[in-house]
Amino acid sequence: MKHTKIKDLLNSTKPIDNVTVKGWVRTFRNNQFLAINDGSVIHNIQAVVDFENTSPETLKRLTTSAAVLVTGNLAESQGAGQKFEIQVKHLEILGDSDAEKYPIQLRNKPSLEFLREQAHLRVRTNAFGAIMRVRSVLSFAIHQYFQEKGFVYVNTPIITGSDAEGAGEMFHVTSFPVNDAPKNDDGSVNYKEDFFGKETNLTVSGQLEAETYAMALGQVYTFGPTFRAENSNTSRHLAEFWMVEPEVAFNNLDDNMDLAEDFIQYVIKYALDKCPDDLAFLNQRLTDEEKTKPAAERSEMSLLEKLNFVLENNFKRVSYTEAIDILKSSKPNKNKKFNYIIEEWGADLQSEHERFLVEKHFKCPVILYDYPAKIKAFYMRLNDDAPQDRQTVRAMDILFPGIGEIVGGSQREERLDILQQKIADLGIDEKELWWYLDTRRFGTAVHSGFGLGFERLVLFVTGMTNIRDVIPFPRTPQNAEF
Ligand code: ATP
Ligand code: MG
Ligand code: MG
Ligand code: MG
Repeated sequence: MKHTKIKDLLNSTKPIDNVTVKGWVRTFRNNQFLAINDGSVIHNIQAVVDFENTSPETLKRLTTSAAVLVTGNLAESQGAGQKFEIQVKHLEILGDSDAEKYPIQLRNKPSLEFLREQAHLRVRTNAFGAIMRVRSVLSFAIHQYFQEKGFVYVNTPIITGSDAEGAGEMFHVTSFPVNDAPKNDDGSVNYKEDFFGKETNLTVSGQLEAETYAMALGQVYTFGPTFRAENSNTSRHLAEFWMVEPEVAFNNLDDNMDLAEDFIQYVIKYALDKCPDDLAFLNQRLTDEEKTKPAAERSEMSLLEKLNFVLENNFKRVSYTEAIDILKSSKPNKNKKFNYIIEEWGADLQSEHERFLVEKHFKCPVILYDYPAKIKAFYMRLNDDAPQDRQTVRAMDILFPGIGEIVGGSQREERLDILQQKIADLGIDEKELWWYLDTRRFGTAVHSGFGLGFERLVLFVTGMTNIRDVIPFPRTPQNAEF
């Protein structure tokens, strides 16, 4: 039977006779007021049940999460809070939900931790419905942004034969039985007999492959799953996450920063425009949560204020060297929130450093650039004018309040000889990267790109604090139930 989305009914400008809705029961009050949600919108529609003409058995089966069909007239509502309601003429229970067993029902205000164990059911709550709709819209915004600008979407491989990048963090892919891999004389696994004839891994980034495509198509982007065997349990890392990686020929580091900033502002604005109800809900959720904290720890801005702030203010561009000077001359906050160890030039920044710069010092998103060469990847463009003992590369990280690193990017080293030298210094066999080096052999050019962790963006936009809560089925250490 044809049915109408609740979103469309709630947006109606006039009453409509004989509408049909299919969805799931959220609540049923006073044997009369049935709140139904179908996932199209955060709001429920109220269906007023004619209880005198409905059997007591049917009324009893209107439990939370039961699947129902109702038909009736969409009429103006007398009750507060909604413009329209459905005066039910026909009601069917499509699928029962046992109220005694429904896990979410059994808890009063289930915690996020509990809901993580119910990843298949948590999307039935308002908060997760809103998060997943916002995630979907952001995903679309990413494609829209790059497509409007004429970028070509490239699907870089999920299974890769190169392991130059992800030392120690890669998931191996093999077709060998668990305990029965053929061995070489020295006891190591003989991958020649494996499916691909060599050692293969799940990708940690599509960048190197995307670079080769940028060298022909000019502007490309990948947007796909990436995998890292991160052995730490943090609220910012997943073993399987989605990354957006544009790569642009003839762009230098400044162009790269401009692109990243414009892109992030575009997708946030897109979400604000397309998800006003979901973001209003998440904003309220966060505001309520903040009220439970001691006054000194409360956030100065609401979620919507934070999102608008990012749209209205340029990201602060600061060199790594300047950042180290700021960190050294600032006294870490006494209340421990920004307590960090003072590091000398050359050290990698810890999240405490990043948070101090973003949340306390600059109080806005920050683009840190020109990092020490030693702490960054081999493919980043060397700065020629830096002093020998302070060799830097044209790298940039974008740091966001409450999130830390959201983007990592760089101008790439386009000079073959320097790249070969760096590869050799790392002890990587050049033959592994012959295809990558070809981009520098045949028509090399200045180019740059970045990787944005999609879940970190979703974290920021939804105001959530744990990355496990912004992806449908989080993959973390000891956690891949289904
Ligand atoms: P971090 O310092 O947070 O571990 P990274 O420097 O290792 O990140 P990059 O290799 O620069 O990460 O990857 C690009 C982007 O991908 C990061 O800026 C971040 O937004 C995201 N990212 C990296 N690792 C993860 C992960 N394990 N889970 C989710 N997002 C990630
Ligand atoms: Mg990392
Ligand atoms: Mg990092
Ligand atoms: Mg990085």
